Amino acid sequence: MADLGEPRNTIAVLQKYGFDFKKKFGQNFLIDTHVLEKIVAAADITKDDLVLEIGPGIGTVTQYLCEAAREVVTVEIDKTLIPILTDTTLSMYDNVTIINNDILKVDINALVDEKNGGKPIKVVANLPYYITTPIIMSLLEKHVPVISMTLMVQEEVARRMQAGPGTKDYGALSLAVQYYAEPYIAAFVPPNCFMPRPKVGSAVVNLTLRDKPPVETKDPAFMFKVIKASFAQRRKTLVNGLTNSPELDISKDDATRAVLAMEESCGLKQDPMLRGEKLTLPEFAVLADVLIGE
Ligand code: SAM
Repeated sequence: MADLGEPRNTIAVLQKYGFDFKKKFGQNFLIDTHVLEKIVAAADITKDDLVLEIGPGIGTVTQYLCEAAREVVTVEIDKTLIPILTDTTLSMYDNVTIINNDILKVDINALVDEKNGGKPIKVVANLPYYITTPIIMSLLEKHVPVISMTLMVQEEVARRMQAGPGTKDYGALSLAVQYYAEPYIAAFVPPNCFMPRPKVGSAVVNLTLRDKPPVETKDPAFMFKVIKASFAQRRKTLVNGLTNSPELDISKDDATRAVLAMEESCGLKQDPMLRGEKLTLPEFAVLADVLIGE
């Protein structure tokens, strides 16, 4: 089977199988060998690695992964792609397993136990953009043993993952990702590298998982509720965001006291107009701990 990174080879496979793209599955297939090489380089894959791929499509990234890794497990939701994948990857490589399932329904911890003796794996994906955040957050929150994730996502999402306080891209996703991992953008990828072309630009983001979180907090799940509440209404003050949250059940007095205590403890100037977007992760950790203590 020829290199599917070459557009003419992808077109030949699509024609051979009469494949129709399904919008509902976010199908935008890569057709650029340079981008494929960048993904594999950013993922730093060696012959020791088990790689989990999410959404192989017709097997373009999969081919590159099979060359670089010890073993590849790839999970595809669209059953009409399975015979194509069998042709483009299984017939060529003996180090690939294809699973026909929704990645959100796969027990990845069990898979890592079975295929890698519980040792951490690498995740690589050109993600379907309609469920980027749920996929990333479910991998992070389930504490799947993962060394790194190298992911093609919408450029805007990549920027949000990497953003720091006070910028327009900074929000709950930035803090959630940065709590678990160190993100960096490895490449920007224009729409013409895909078939069909997406409407927006994309980026390859690498998330290297941390051994332990960068801050300590009494109850991380509660801290994330505080973070969510603080960004739910970006134009409101932090106190109002906390008070208006249906998940937190905090009175305005308690929220005001907690914000003042946090400002004092973190050496911040008192500011009744303070907004959540100004706070760092350590400051959110202090705020959450003060609120738990209330
Ligand atoms: N990896 C291929 C490539 O780069 O050419 C295809 C990438 S395409 C952006 C996303 C792929 O994810 C599609 O093949 C789509 O069918 C698949 N997909 C969508 N939702 C999925 C899910 N919940 N679980 C597994 N695969 C999914």
